[in-house]
Amino acid sequence: MTTEQGSGRPKILHVSPEAVPFSKVGGLGDVAGSLPAALRESGTDCRLLTPAWEGTLDRAREQGFTLTKISRKVEAVIRWKIYRGTVWKCSGPGMVAYLLEEPSLFGKSVYPANLTPETVVPFLFLSLAALDLPSAALWKPDIIHCHDWGTAPLPAALRWHVHFGASGGAYKTVFTIHNLAHQGILPLESLGDWGIRDEAARVEGMEYFGMANLMKGALVACDAVTTVSPGYAKEIQTEAGGEGLGGLLKSLSGKVTGILNGLDDRYWDPRTDPLLPERYSPADLSGKAVCKRKLLERAGWEDDGRPLVVFVGRMVEQKGFPILLPALEKLAGMDCRLFLVGSGQTEYEEAAENAAARFPDSLFVFRGYDETLAHLAYGGGDFFLMPSRFEPCGLSQLISLRYGTVPIVRAVGGLRDTVFDHGTPEGNGFLFSGYTPLDLLAALSRALEVYRDDGTMKKLVLRGMNADFSWSRSAPLYRKLYESLLS
Ligand code: ADP
Repeated sequence: MTTEQGSGRPKILHVSPEAVPFSKVGGLGDVAGSLPAALRESGTDCRLLTPAWEGTLDRAREQGFTLTKISRKVEAVIRWKIYRGTVWKCSGPGMVAYLLEEPSLFGKSVYPANLTPETVVPFLFLSLAALDLPSAALWKPDIIHCHDWGTAPLPAALRWHVHFGASGGAYKTVFTIHNLAHQGILPLESLGDWGIRDEAARVEGMEYFGMANLMKGALVACDAVTTVSPGYAKEIQTEAGGEGLGGLLKSLSGKVTGILNGLDDRYWDPRTDPLLPERYSPADLSGKAVCKRKLLERAGWEDDGRPLVVFVGRMVEQKGFPILLPALEKLAGMDCRLFLVGSGQTEYEEAAENAAARFPDSLFVFRGYDETLAHLAYGGGDFFLMPSRFEPCGLSQLISLRYGTVPIVRAVGGLRDTVFDHGTPEGNGFLFSGYTPLDLLAALSRALEVYRDDGTMKKLVLRGMNADFSWSRSAPLYRKLYESLLS
């Protein structure tokens, strides 16, 4: 076959259900968009395969990407039906992506509310289509790098699929855990419907308490497991943090590493951010004051000098809502205001909104996903609150550091790897350990005390803004891992 091979650089295909700038639900979208670009800069031929969810192709064209339709479709048989997808090769600055179009599977929303043998089909198709891509795109990767449960069927298929199982040795696979809480659990009988051989339905394979566990299959079958911070890599190998897979991960520890996520520091840069009403830098923070004013206006508040605490994120259990909500009444009585931006579980959204209705001068809640408002919150906040129960890496605290918004976070996972307590030599924020409303409030009250001391507060702000959390630290670690797999 005529191929695009050539160059001699390692060829890596990243496969992700979401990737910026094409789609984004959370941090995985940020990472899957920015990591391949960073790896290309460091000399790998790194490409991305991601679904063309509704509107993606138009958005890609609007953003100036060049789209070329690949003449051969990619195919996969799932539940006795042949699915055929159109692949668009999408090239733009620093990025080569393959956008997989199949409108009956890739519609409006990325993840289903309930995972069933029907709703998992888009993710199976993405995974199996990736294995058919080399024949269609005439480009064969050395390594396929999969992200989270939605692409977990891929390494599993290379081991156990009736057709793709035979090509097992053709690729090395890396599987990155962005969030172990979502594993993709389905009835065990489903495996046969996807062409997975019976031997996978055992405890040494994908079987998990009588069910099929997609992520478990990937962990067992892949060549290397990474997760998104060294701290989380340790936590997931324990019973407490392993979400039911701690023992397995411990037994696989020889192939598990933690590599801290990087931030796309060109997109997240208060010096150039077009979504901020005014830009600013460590040398001149006046634009940050303008952002704060605009953010206060958004809540209908006048600036009365109180520090502004912000939260941007999913309103779900993981992000600490069980300790944040009971803290709101006390928080509203403290010398600060809280601006929440997020969406998630209805009961948390409603409880937050009810609290805001009771304390309209201190609490404001925006329910929904709003990129512009999120940027304004990162820019306009004095403090960023992130009381997560667990946090694989967390990008929000990195963004807030870069925007001079001092993080107040729970000391778990990637938060502990990136935020250091005021009072330590490298202090850039505030940490608390206990998972209770009182621990959260105690950390907040320490932060509010420091806010009154201009000099110390400014030092914290500048230390965060001047730190480097870009991919330049982490991309070489992935590169090293790829090289070790290929050597
Ligand atoms: P997770 O991936 O667990 O949701 P991260 O901190 O890793 O958490 O990444 C969350 C990303 O999603 C950040 O870029 C954050 O700004 C963004 N985000 C989350 N919720 C919203 C929202 N409601 N509106 C805009 N951006 C959001």
